[in-house]
Formats: sequence, structure tokens, C-alpha cells
Amino acid sequence: MAWLKLKQKIWHLKGILTIAPSITLLVILGSFTGVYQTLEWATFDFWFRIRPQESKDNRITVVNIEESDIQALGQWPISDGKLAQLLQNIIQQQPRAIGLDLYRDLSYGSPQEQEALDQVYRSTPNLIGVEKVVGETVNAPSILKEQDQAAMADLVLDQDGKVRRGLIAVALDDGQTVLSLATKLALMYLQQEDIYLEALENSDRRFLGKATFSPIKNNEGGYINVDSGGYQIILNYRGNQDRFNHVSLTRVLNGDIPEDLFRDRIVLIGATADSLNDLFFTPYNDTDTGSNQMPGVYVHANLTSHIISAALEGRTMIGGITETGEWVWILCWSFIGASVSLLILERNLLRIDPISSIELTLVGAFLPIGVLFSSSYYLFLWGWWLPTIAPLIAFILSTVAVVSYYNQNQKNLAFTDGLTSIANRRFFDTYVEEQWRRIKQGKDLSVILCDVDFFKFYNDTYGHQAGDECLQKVAKAITDAIRSSDMAARYGGEEFVIVLPNTDTETAMLVANRIRFKIKAMQIPHKKSQVSDHVSISLGVASVNHNRPHSPEELIAFADQGLYIAKEQGRDRAVVAPR
Ligand code: GH3
Ligand code: MG
Ligand code: MG
Repeated sequence: MAWLKLKQKIWHLKGILTIAPSITLLVILGSFTGVYQTLEWATFDFWFRIRPQESKDNRITVVNIEESDIQALGQWPISDGKLAQLLQNIIQQQPRAIGLDLYRDLSYGSPQEQEALDQVYRSTPNLIGVEKVVGETVNAPSILKEQDQAAMADLVLDQDGKVRRGLIAVALDDGQTVLSLATKLALMYLQQEDIYLEALENSDRRFLGKATFSPIKNNEGGYINVDSGGYQIILNYRGNQDRFNHVSLTRVLNGDIPEDLFRDRIVLIGATADSLNDLFFTPYNDTDTGSNQMPGVYVHANLTSHIISAALEGRTMIGGITETGEWVWILCWSFIGASVSLLILERNLLRIDPISSIELTLVGAFLPIGVLFSSSYYLFLWGWWLPTIAPLIAFILSTVAVVSYYNQNQKNLAFTDGLTSIANRRFFDTYVEEQWRRIKQGKDLSVILCDVDFFKFYNDTYGHQAGDECLQKVAKAITDAIRSSDMAARYGGEEFVIVLPNTDTETAMLVANRIRFKIKAMQIPHKKSQVSDHVSISLGVASVNHNRPHSPEELIAFADQGLYIAKEQGRDRAVVAPR
């Protein structure tokens, strides 16, 4: 029994040890095709939407250019004169940095207006203008560019059109590195706190106050083979418009603003009007709803806020773990799926729990999935973006694999004799029926019935346990003696039966005697046997062509007659049933 238990344990381990790693491998290979990416993104976005709201960033004020502002201006783009006026009203309050998030490589307005704006550009060292450097390029205002006050405003979109990454910098073809608007504004802001960007040699890590930046890798988090060009990070959004101070352009132009709205802050000026079409999908957008896209200027505000908060307060940076780590994570969930389902199958089988099997199955399936998603969420809150869909699929597939493996095994067990591991009576019954139906014209079918001689005495002499071992040896000898086309089964007690398709009586007799000699040759001592010093058997042989039975049952009855005669004649022999 101990051996049986051990065998079962090994079987379980073998099952789990083969299923979990193979499923993991399958899932990892699948992940390289990018099939889970959309769902990984959806999960990631969902965590953004359900996490507790972030506090407002009071260091940033955004000047919105809304639809009503454009109407008030009566024209768009805004004229140089109006823009100069706007900037002057802001500068008056002495902000730390101003980001003008409007592409403006051309002039709009009279020469005087142009001159007024140029004058503002020249006299404001903390004013940053934007350029577009990737794809179709747009220049920054030339004066700002000359004064090294230009930054890029490019955004990177994922394949599904959402902005999840923020650009810190981009290296241009000519080797020049351009900082993004957010980076430039943040660095300018932090300069006054005496915080500067530090680089390590031979490392792409960057240090800024309390923050450590590392650029995203091709397969970071839920990404597969993302274009990680330039220096990109995963944007830890703070939120929508209401997470920042904001004011409309018209109010600033009219001077209708609180005295300290811009003082010592970063000011971002950008278009929020739908008609200006500077809108982006972010994790805050539920899939497929086009509404509430985020104006580009707020993406910049979010990235700026991310950088500053990371440097000053150590705000969480979001990133993945190493790829090997992700594989181990998937493997873990494979193992959990395999082990939990096996555990439940066994408890169901042995009826260990008073709770119903359906409840147990539900708990077994949904509890781990709940744990997976909640751990994924909490890890996200700590800044770890781990794959969630890939392990989920690994979990489900492992469960399915174990259940089918187990069922298959149960099916096999149902046809196997527990003691001797050869086929059992149930299997024999269906097998012999099947062979009976398959007998072809001119072919034969034989059966041999064997019975151990004086086995009751054997048990009485050596004990039941020894009797069991003896039966195992006999079964082994039988299977060793027959051909691969023959089938041996335990018929009952100490009786065995062999089915021999396409075999006539003479050949069946040869096989029968081969079995008999094989068992005698083992020389298992049997003191109380009245025919030999060793264990012996008697056999009865019957064949379809010889005995002309009308059914498989009758064929076996003939073999039983042969066996009876063999016993009568003195045992330890094989006898063909009379016609
Ligand atoms: P015979 O030569 O006429 O066949 O004598 P026998 O003692 O073998 O015949 P009988 O049918 O009277 O006894 C068969 C015995 O086989 C009785 C039973 O205790 C024993 N037996 C049946 N199944 C098992 C088993 O699984 N394990 C053990 N140890 N003994 C078994
Ligand atoms: Mg018997
Ligand atoms: Mg017997």
C-alpha cells in the first residue's frame, strides 16, 4: 500500500512536472507573437482607472486654449501680438519655466507684432518652444532654437493609438540629442532646487534627485517588441485636467487671473479645443469610447509632473521585471493551475470535503484568478508591470491539461487490474467482444484460461501477502510469454485469460505450454502443492474454428471446460477443449 501511494505521488509529480513547464513554454512562445498584448494593455489601463486618485500637482498651471478662446480671438492661429501679450502677462508673475506647446515656425501678424513677440522670445530665458523631430518635422521658433530654448513635443503612441509611454529624449540622426518638452521644463524647475541630471558611465540609467530612470526595453511589461527608440519611460499619469491648475487663454489675456497663479510654477500653454485636434487616447479612455481624449498639453503636463515628483518625492516609476523573471512568473501560475486542479480532482474523488464539488471547483478556479489579478494590481501600485494575461492563460491551460490528463488516466485505471497492472476483467469483456466481431473469413480466434494450482494452499502456507506477490509474478510471466498481438487479462482471483487473435488451436497450445514452462522455470516454492514443489498452473484452450461456439461467452465456456479437464487429469498441463 505504501508502494502504491508512492507510485501515485510520483504519477502526480510527473504529471505536474511535465504539464506546467510545457504549457509555460507554449504560452511564452505565444506571447512573442504579441497575441496577449491588447489584453495586457487593457488590464494595465484598467489599473490606472481604478487606482485611488492622485493628488493635484500644484507646481504646474496649464493655460487652456479652448473653443471659446478661439472664438474670442476671432482667428487661429493666435496673432504674434496676442501671443506676446499672453506671454508677458504670464512672465509678470515670474514662473519658473514656461512651455509653449504650439508649433509656431511661421509668423502671424504685422511686422510690429512680430517684433514684439521676438522681443519676448529674446528676453525670456525660461521660455521653451516646441519642435517636432520624428517623422514630418516642424521647426521651433528660430530665436528660441538659437538660444537653446527648443524642445520636442513628439508623443509616442502604441499600436492601439494610446499614449502609455513618455519620451525623455531622442537622439537625432546627426548625433544630436533633443530633450522633450517635459524633460526640459522639469530640469529647469529642478535646477532651482539644486537637482541635476546625473549619468553613470556605461549605463543607460539616469539619476535625478530621488529618481532613477531607466529606458524601457523592447519587451517591457506587457509590451512585445515595442519601438523603444530614444529614451522612453512608462508614463505614470497623475490624471486628467482637474489634477492640474488650469486657466483659459482669454482670462490670462484679459489679466483676469489670481495674482500668484503662475508664480514659481511651470506654465504650459496648449490647445484643448476639439477643433485644434491635439487630442490623444490614454489609459483613462475606456476602449472604443472616443470621448474624453486628453489634450497633448496635458500629456506633457503629466510627464513633467511625473519627472518632478519622481525627483523630489521619489514617485513610483513603472517598469517591468526581467524577461526571465516574467517567465518564472508565468511558470508559477502554470504550477498553481496544475496543482490546484489536481488537488480538487482528488478531493472530489475521495470525497474529503463536505462542500459540494461544484463549489470547490468554483473556488479553485476563481480564487487563484482573483489572486492573480489583485497581485497584478498591487504590483502595479508599487510600479511593477507584470504580465497578467499570459499567466492567466498559463493557469487556464494547465488546469485544462491536468483535468484531461487525469481523466485519461482514470479511464486507463478503470481498465487496469490494481494488483497485477495487466488488463482487468472489464477490459477483457469488451476486448473479446470486439475481437469476436473482427474474425475474418478463414481466420481463427483462440482463448486460454489459466488457473494457479492449489493456490488456496499457497495462501495458507505463505500468507495472503505472499500470495499477492505470487500472482504478480505469474501475471508478469504470462505477459512475457505471449506475443504482442495477444492480450492477457486477470479474469478473477488466481485466474488469468489470454485472447489470441488470428490464432488456431495448435498455435494456442504452443503459447499455453510456453506460459506453463515459463512459470515453472521461475521455481516459486510451493510446499503444499500436490503436483510439484513449485508453483504450477493448469490451462484450458478453445478456438472458434475448433469448438464452433455461438458467442464469445460460449468460447470462454469451452476454454473453461478445457481447464476443468486439465485439473481433473492431474493439473500442471494444458488441455484443448473437446469439440
Ligand atoms: P485448484 O488447483 O483447484 O485451482 O485449487 P485452488 O486452491 O487454486 O482453487 P480455489 O478456487 O479453491 O482457490 C483459489 C484461491 O485463490 C482462493 C483465494 O483465497 C485465492 N485468491 C483469489 N484471489 C486472490 C488474491 O487476489 N490474492 C491472494 N493472495 N489470493 C487470492
Ligand atoms: Mg480458481
Ligand atoms: Mg486454483
